[in-house]
Amino acid sequence: MSCCDDEAGLLSLEQALATLVSEAVASKAIEQVAIEDVLGRVLAQDIVSSINVPPANNSAMDGYALRWQDYAANKALPVSQRIAAGNIGEALQAGTVARIFTGGEIPPGADVVVKQEDTRQAGDKVMILNTPAVGDHIRPAGQDIRAGAMLVAKGTVLSPRHIGILASVGCAMVPVYQRLHVSLVNTGDELVMPGEVCGAGKIYNSNYFTMRGFLLRLGCEISSVTALADSADAVYDALLQASQETDLVITTGGVSVGEEDHVKHVVGQLGQIKLWRLAIKPGKPLAYGDIQGTPFIGLPGNPVAAAVTFLLLAKPYIRGLQGASYQPPQATPVIADFTTKAAKRQVFLRANVSLEAGKMYATPLVNQSSGALSSTVFSDGLLVVPAGASVAKGDVLDFLPYSVLE
Ligand code: AMP
Ligand code: MG
Repeated sequence: MSCCDDEAGLLSLEQALATLVSEAVASKAIEQVAIEDVLGRVLAQDIVSSINVPPANNSAMDGYALRWQDYAANKALPVSQRIAAGNIGEALQAGTVARIFTGGEIPPGADVVVKQEDTRQAGDKVMILNTPAVGDHIRPAGQDIRAGAMLVAKGTVLSPRHIGILASVGCAMVPVYQRLHVSLVNTGDELVMPGEVCGAGKIYNSNYFTMRGFLLRLGCEISSVTALADSADAVYDALLQASQETDLVITTGGVSVGEEDHVKHVVGQLGQIKLWRLAIKPGKPLAYGDIQGTPFIGLPGNPVAAAVTFLLLAKPYIRGLQGASYQPPQATPVIADFTTKAAKRQVFLRANVSLEAGKMYATPLVNQSSGALSSTVFSDGLLVVPAGASVAKGDVLDFLPYSVLE
């Protein structure tokens, strides 16, 4: 069978994604990790606050705290105490004010803060210039977070914002899933690493670096084989070992139908291929299955195809294995300023977008080769052309910016 005559029976991206997402279940144990080290980790339990934030009423301004009833126009009041943030005052003496600073706890008895800009010094007393209202410039206890409030849900990938909120309720150790350990195996006799001599017949291994970067961003631990020989024995040994030592095996290359493509065949021997070949361009030869029970994703060797299939399929799958809740990438509607003939497969064009008179237009790059990795750097994202659809100028298409996909 040749690789290109059979476009029938290919799985749609939607079908493949549905299978991958449904099979990707949290596979790692929960560990308690110091809050300093949980950036990008996946939260393993809902976090509920056990405290009020702020814990007590405090001042939102530098100024003076007083009893509202002690205010009278043109009446100067003595300063009876000084309360800086971090200190607690005493009960406020009637007929006096407390000098208070932002974050300082409101002393018992006071029910209003007057900001210092609204006061005038009168000897050692203070004159209030505008009529205050009860509660002015006081941040009540629990205004930000109430004790018992649900803060961050299980399955959240922790960002600096989430970590900040966990810190604000005093959470020092955070329950997260253990890191997913991924094997990254790049097949190809032609591959050499940057820093090595790129001799006759050789090319630099770019997939290793693209995939490694994506995996690091996902918080994975990585074990790599950077240039696995195109031989059935070498592929067999490497995949068997990878499946025994890690939680997920990702390969690049060798999943097409050439004689030098051993990956799919070997996975079939060691385990099973559950799906292979998708109705997408680039990325048709993607394979998914398991090697003796360890999940396996075979990405195409062509660098654009590898990157596109990683972002569209491997990333959501990895998120599932990590225990993260699946969030499909949000596409932006854009207007085509080009025409194309219909293709049988769903096409992901590397395209640039520009805003003109409030409308977003998309222009695909001229070079759409799945081997032209530069197209991913010279474009803003992927423009989605549905299978079987021709495009006319003015058509509205979905656009997936790299900033959303990555
Ligand atoms: P394959 O899927 O192994 O037939 O590879 C398809 C194309 O992608 C070939 O032109 C390979 O040389 C190229 N390719 C495969 N792996 C890599 C890699 N790691 N880095 C750069 N190009 C690659
Ligand atoms: Mg190859």
